[in-house]
Amino acid sequence: MKALVFYEFREGCLELREVPEPEVGPADVLLRVKAAAVCGSDIERVHCRSSSTVTPVIIGHEFCGVVERVGAEVRRWRPGDRVVSENTGYVCGECYACRTGKFLNCPERKLLGGKLDGGFAEFVRIPGDVLAIYPQSLRRLPDNLSFEAGAILEPSCNAYFALIQEGGLQLGQKAVIFGPGAIGLFAVAWAKLAGAGQIILVGGSENRLELGRALGAHQTVNYRRAGGVPDAVGSLIGPNQADLVLDASGGGNVLADAIAIARPLGKIVNIGWAGEHRVNLDPAMRKGLDIIGHLGYDTTSWDRVLFLAGQNALDYRKFISAVFPLEEWREAFKGMEERRYLKAVFTF
Ligand SMILES: [Zn+2]
Ligand SMILES: [Zn+2]
Repeated sequence: MKALVFYEFREGCLELREVPEPEVGPADVLLRVKAAAVCGSDIERVHCRSSSTVTPVIIGHEFCGVVERVGAEVRRWRPGDRVVSENTGYVCGECYACRTGKFLNCPERKLLGGKLDGGFAEFVRIPGDVLAIYPQSLRRLPDNLSFEAGAILEPSCNAYFALIQEGGLQLGQKAVIFGPGAIGLFAVAWAKLAGAGQIILVGGSENRLELGRALGAHQTVNYRRAGGVPDAVGSLIGPNQADLVLDASGGGNVLADAIAIARPLGKIVNIGWAGEHRVNLDPAMRKGLDIIGHLGYDTTSWDRVLFLAGQNALDYRKFISAVFPLEEWREAFKGMEERRYLKAVFTF
């Protein structure tokens, strides 16, 4: 089968290869990939900036498809089922995170498309070991949803988890979202649906900010043009007025701005990976802020998002910039890296 393989932990070691189809053990599910999306973290991975990677590995962790074949012990799935993977390939099943159902926080977790073979391939094996501990790591795709949309459910779950579950957004609240990438823009769309009173999107690209306004942001701030982001946001919602700030940008200075913008006793959810945050936390203590470290999603996020997607609550097409066959992976990666594409999706 064709697969996009990161074959050595070295810059540029990515190529389309012919590899054997995965073998299917008695508890495994073999998925025929129908669509898979490129994530910002795939770019980081092939530039050797991700620790959750082994080589050689087939990358791609945002994917969906159809069950092709199941092992003899599998009862839950049948060939032909339309499914989306939440991309967990292994968890220990014993740590605190696993015991409380927070599988993404398992220190032993292996990502399909990071430490185990993932979805930029014609087929991907969902290991029986993980399905035994965490059956919900494989989900039924709602009938109304296209495979292209199915491939980008994952970042929308991510945004839902940050905004609604961790951030606890309530009707009428003021939300400020930094970073108009896929997660930030999904957060804008969910905030609109959830009835946020005011949604402010902060970013550096006019095209993305415009898309943000189309998705429901009431106002946008271009940090390249604004004198200072806290003042610019303050002029829109009042100083120290944000009930909730999401940092989906990964900018090292954003946490300081978020602290300045948040109201006393407000919340900040940190989604983006900055490497290093340059910030004085004293003002956050004075305000009594909750600063929440975010990772991924949980089963509840997937339950809710699959339900909402099944009701056509979001138009997922607005988030897909381009669709390619896997052979054109270079252009898909280039466009993502240059931020010309919000989401590039491979179809099979
Ligand atoms: Zn991702
Ligand atoms: Zn664990």
